[in-house]
Amino acid sequence: MVPVYVINKHGKPLMPCGPRKARVLLKQGKAKVFRYVPFTIQLLHGSSGYRQKIYAGRDRGLTQGIIACREDGRVLLRFQVTGRIDISELLYWRACLRRSRRNRKTGYRPCRNKNRKRPEGWLAPSVAHLWYEHQKTRHLVESTLPVTAWAEEVNKFDTRRMWDPEVKGKGYQEGPLKGKKNVRQYVLERDSYRCVLCGNPEDLETHHIVWRFRGGSDRPKNMVTLCKKCHDKVTAGKIEIKVLVKSYRWPARLNALNPLFNALDAVKITPGKVKKARTELSLGKEHWADAAALVFAAFGVKPDIENLPLLLQGRFVRTKNRQLHRTNPSKGGKRAKAQGNRYLINKSGVRFMRNDLVEYKGATGYVSSLRSSGSVRVCDWQGKELINVSVNKLKKLQNRDSIIWEVS
Ligand SMILES: [Zn+2]
Repeated sequence: MVPVYVINKHGKPLMPCGPRKARVLLKQGKAKVFRYVPFTIQLLHGSSGYRQKIYAGRDRGLTQGIIACREDGRVLLRFQVTGRIDISELLYWRACLRRSRRNRKTGYRPCRNKNRKRPEGWLAPSVAHLWYEHQKTRHLVESTLPVTAWAEEVNKFDTRRMWDPEVKGKGYQEGPLKGKKNVRQYVLERDSYRCVLCGNPEDLETHHIVWRFRGGSDRPKNMVTLCKKCHDKVTAGKIEIKVLVKSYRWPARLNALNPLFNALDAVKITPGKVKKARTELSLGKEHWADAAALVFAAFGVKPDIENLPLLLQGRFVRTKNRQLHRTNPSKGGKRAKAQGNRYLINKSGVRFMRNDLVEYKGATGYVSSLRSSGSVRVCDWQGKELINVSVNKLKKLQNRDSIIWEVS
């Protein structure tokens, strides 16, 4: 059964129903479509608020896995949503643009640093967005199902242990750089003072394989020795170097959010218990499976794995599209896209914006770009182009949101 989620006329969630009943309700005019993904209908008349207990669990992280299950183990909702990874990079480009603009267009301005202060509880933008994502998904579940209680994982990631599980005691103070002057020295020595691409021993530079603002670390594994010539080619994107390291940015960001997670209203479970529950349920390593294990560990409810609803997948997108971060105008354009089309209005007066859910001849997708000519590019949730069609032929199903889903 694919559950159809139901909310009452005041917007409060009720127990979901089957697609058959939903079809009848819609046909009789007793309900209307409230949301297409996850498919939710709203009753137009009063209803007896019959409810059972519903337990929800979440595996936190860049990709969140969420599961909600009835007290008898029936899984009512199962989804995975991936967060945004572009924030630091966008802010980096914006800072570059601002800096150059200030240098170009202003004379002397007195220093204004001294009146700036970060408010209490300030979080870095990427961390703040990660927190927003976690609040958003939780709210989404609570507005779809009458959740009784939540289970969340609590742990502190130990990044030192992640690359060396054997470490203990004094080992925490001794990294790979022990006895070396600095990272550069270590990397040059490791690569025997030669460019790793052409073997040239002159004009040596150290290169971050994953760039710093893209989340690359200063760990030696993320760095190689290159000569100036090769380095220029690599930065220009003409040569690619294989990435060897895993980024520890997400564990660090989750660590930064720990005080907020700890304050959440939920049953907190440690990773050890989650792992034990997962083995007991013989589940894989997917994010939703971790969430199922959390529910089992926290409430003793065994999720019915044989009878799962469809896994709904989605990702977070930015809802603004002013493209202020672009250093160069779009191909063929004369100026930056800050003045580009933010919306188009069709003949019947419907306004279309980026990430609106639209339909054309049975194909459903999200608005990706809006052209002045009136044509609209429609893509699926991962950005694969589906159709290019005039705005007049499109039917809007749902307004844009910060999550886009895999829809069929
Ligand atoms: Zn070289």
